[in-house]
Amino acid sequence: MLGVMTNPAHAAGRDQESERAHAVPREAADGPPPWVAVCGSPVAVVQGSWAGRRGLGSAAPCPECARRAPG
Ligand SMILES: [Zn+2]
Repeated sequence: MLGVMTNPAHAAGRDQESERAHAVPREAADGPPPWVAVCGSPVAVVQGSWAGRRGLGSAAPCPECARRAPG
């Protein structure tokens, strides 16, 4: 559990065809594409932290990702 509170567990990803934000596991986001969100959706862009304004703070966060990755 060490580091869980200080390291964002998820990055914010976004589907190219919609404005919906998805949560991408940090270890996956640090690797090469393609990236897949925790809900199973492929994401085209990874930008910032899921807990930030491009993720949960965005206009349209994915409800399934929000349920599985509450920050
Ligand atoms: Zn999602």
